[in-house]
Amino acid sequence: MDRLEAWFPYPGFRPNQREMLEFAAETAREGGIAMIDAPTGSGKSSVVSALLAESNGRKVIVAVRTISQLSTFIRELALVRKVQPALTFSYLVGKGSMCPLGGEGDPYRRCEGVKAFSSSLMRERAQKGSLVPTEDRVINEQIRKMDREHPLLCPYFIKSRVFVRGDEESGLRMAPSQTLRTRADRVKKEAIAPEDLAGFCNGLCPYETMMQAARGADVLVCNFHHLFNDEIRDQLYASLDVEPKDVLLLIDEAHNCGDVVTGIQSVVLEDRTLEAAMTELSHLSRSMKDVNAVRQVLPNVAAFMEALQRSQKGEDWFDPEQFHRMAVRGTLYKGLEEIVGDLSKIAERVSEKNKSAGIYKESAVESLTEFMYRVYRAGSDMTFLPLYRSAEGHVELEVRNIDPGEKMQAIGKAHAACVLISGTLSPLSAYQKYYFGDLPVRTISLPNSFPRENRLVVCAKDVTTAYRMRQNKKNTDAIVGYIKTFARVRGNLAVYFPSYQILNTYAQACGSRINGKTVYTEPREASEATAALQEFISLPERGKAGIIFAVCGGKWSEGLDYRGEMLRGAMVVGLPLAPYNSVRKMTIEYYVHKFGRDGEFISYTLPAINRALQALGRVLRTPEDTGVLVLAEERFLEPGVRVGLPPWMQDEAEICDLDRFSRLVMKWA
Ligand code: SF4
Repeated sequence: MDRLEAWFPYPGFRPNQREMLEFAAETAREGGIAMIDAPTGSGKSSVVSALLAESNGRKVIVAVRTISQLSTFIRELALVRKVQPALTFSYLVGKGSMCPLGGEGDPYRRCEGVKAFSSSLMRERAQKGSLVPTEDRVINEQIRKMDREHPLLCPYFIKSRVFVRGDEESGLRMAPSQTLRTRADRVKKEAIAPEDLAGFCNGLCPYETMMQAARGADVLVCNFHHLFNDEIRDQLYASLDVEPKDVLLLIDEAHNCGDVVTGIQSVVLEDRTLEAAMTELSHLSRSMKDVNAVRQVLPNVAAFMEALQRSQKGEDWFDPEQFHRMAVRGTLYKGLEEIVGDLSKIAERVSEKNKSAGIYKESAVESLTEFMYRVYRAGSDMTFLPLYRSAEGHVELEVRNIDPGEKMQAIGKAHAACVLISGTLSPLSAYQKYYFGDLPVRTISLPNSFPRENRLVVCAKDVTTAYRMRQNKKNTDAIVGYIKTFARVRGNLAVYFPSYQILNTYAQACGSRINGKTVYTEPREASEATAALQEFISLPERGKAGIIFAVCGGKWSEGLDYRGEMLRGAMVVGLPLAPYNSVRKMTIEYYVHKFGRDGEFISYTLPAINRALQALGRVLRTPEDTGVLVLAEERFLEPGVRVGLPPWMQDEAEICDLDRFSRLVMKWA
């Protein structure tokens, strides 16, 4: 048995799986960046076994986007432990979902605030001889009297700490309590599901418990924000006492990295935030230096926003230089840099003041400071695009980060090895360029290992949702024809559209039932969407079938796992390109400047293809599943789009018109 097999928890490898794991193991041994494009069913989660086989004492960190992916890795690691009983692992999800302490505001800021207050009170009491904070009368009394909406102390944290006496020089030292250490040891050795964690922790902070477990664990599974938010990652690695150069990193569902990284670096300023900042500053003016000078700037920003309100365009870019000139006009400032400097000092003082009152919401002044800093940077950094949105009498400004490359490269270079996996990283060369530019990256693309006879892949050659054809009746009728023909496929089905607007057009044209199947249209409200989806997926067990109409990239198109009879076919109508406006145009221009001819494909076509593939990927989740995948859009046949489909799909797709499609689906009816 070789090293890889020693860490592999299944009786045998799936087709191509061993090749993929050896590829990952080699990356762990030699270091560097690797990207793996592997369709559903390739056994991607076992890549963690390959990294463990070559870890040699280095920590493995797995970054996932959703709780369901986190649970998949916890199950996988529990299986690995059956063949490697000494393996320990832990996980972290965001404090927003892990923290049991109530109250308003940002959970990270609240945590930082209550931990600081709790620590200082605990230390004060320890100096008076009370080394076990949970047994201290004063602390317990203060917790009892505390305003739960504006907490200053955290009983869950207090339970996780004790004080120990060091030597004379070091004095009292705060340390993890025995209760915390015992629980954390159990976490490392038992697979506690996220939903059972709060109960398991029994009054201890779940985050602290998992963090304590993570310190000594071989593997930590965490969410994307722990990795891609610089501040959170730095804190995490400091708490774990590890350096990136000693970490083997595995990033799951890596097609999402770009959106997550750019989203974290983008900031929005709403008109109501600006108003709130004016009010906050007006209350500070007497007590703080610099406030009056900054207050002169805000009406200028408000006037800038008001002027944009009259714009006919819903979204457009704005010139940071113009914003700059307008912001300083008639004030004591010469430039944005000085304004940002003064605002930062004020924002820090506001934050401290709020924390001491148990208020953990980001203040409007802090949001404004962050925004002004980004506009200032946008003046010289092309990766930040300043834009505005105007609707129903409201304007918001945004400084949007449009290029995740710098952050991705920094992460890739810093870690001992960095392996990215996804079922939709096609074409790998495009994602490689987008994330890592010219850095050396090893890549592997796997074929679809599920039986080919279990699926039908179709691409229509005679319909499109391209703008020029939207009013063309023949084209619209043909799309309706494709949907109605598709509805003959046995069982539950899904049809995905590029936008709500196009969805509504076809929902009206098709009616509420198609071929005896009830149509479920994706609601905009998340709670309604969950209830409707539950009803839809329960239909097969009641001997019924339905058809969902949803939007590519929407609530019903990603991260959902419809196994077996839950979904037997998916159709994507149109190429789900983002609306083309001047902001999009500038983003494309930026990428064309950066990558030449590939720039437009990477920034515009690739995300659309990925949305379509994600939607189709809801079907055929296990080797036994059977189903029909339809691309109802002729543009998928154009060479510049087709190249973005995975090789197995390009190879298998039956190119057809409506007549041929009718004949092909007969077998599946
Ligand atoms: S220490 Fe734990 S329970 Fe307390 S605020 Fe932080 S995350 Fe919440």
